Amino acid sequence: MHDELKTSYRSIIEAVGEDPNREGLLDTPKRAAKAMEYLTKGYRQTLEEITNNAVFSTDADDMVVIQDIELYSMCEHHLLPFVGRCHIAYIPNGKVLGLSKFARIVDMYARRFQIQEQLTHQIAKAVEEVIGAKGVGVIVEAKHMCMMMRGVEKQNSQMRTSVMLGSFRNDSKTRNEFLMLIKR
Ligand SMILES: [Zn+2]
Repeated sequence: MHDELKTSYRSIIEAVGEDPNREGLLDTPKRAAKAMEYLTKGYRQTLEEITNNAVFSTDADDMVVIQDIELYSMCEHHLLPFVGRCHIAYIPNGKVLGLSKFARIVDMYARRFQIQEQLTHQIAKAVEEVIGAKGVGVIVEAKHMCMMMRGVEKQNSQMRTSVMLGSFRNDSKTRNEFLMLIKR
């Protein structure tokens, strides 16, 4: 994959009219390939391996909220970054998941080519699958470089997507509690 990416980046540099042999650009295909490998490493991870050994038993059935998980992804339409935050809440059903694993779940799906709606859905489904929660709520707020740097060039618009599963979908009290808890 690395060599293929390197060759492709060299072609891109030439295609925009630059000289890939210019000193400042000489190692760029290599560096860009490495960066792209990192930014897409979610394709080479599985839910099972990243949540391994971090599911614990519990009697509690109170809402757990993890707020402001940083999120860096790339839109699949322009391959430009979108950047924001993710909030996750769930009602346990006998099992909880170690805190750091939520960040890993977010990263695994974010480090793929994405649209924000799908990313939000995948995160919610993953939490539901791993711990069998009674309900899961996920909200993603992000700014898209494809809107800010090109196209309509709107700098301050933010996209907000939410997915509510189980009790978060069926019970407005649960949903509202989540929304109130993440309010600033
Ligand atoms: Zn885009």
